[in-house]
Amino acid sequence: MRELVGTCESCGRDVFCLDGFLNGVSEAGRLECFECADREEGTARPQDKEKSE
Ligand SMILES: [Zn+2]
Repeated sequence: MRELVGTCESCGRDVFCLDGFLNGVSEAGRLECFECADREEGTARPQDKEKSE
């Protein structure tokens, strides 16, 4: 199951939720794809992927 969650705030790409797994990062009200989130290291910690929302 694929559900459109929104668009990446940085590159405008569509961000989907795949089988309950967000194909990106939602942080402080911003939605970003993994590529853009990786570019902004320092705000995202590896442990964050463990949290459930
Ligand atoms: Zn992006």
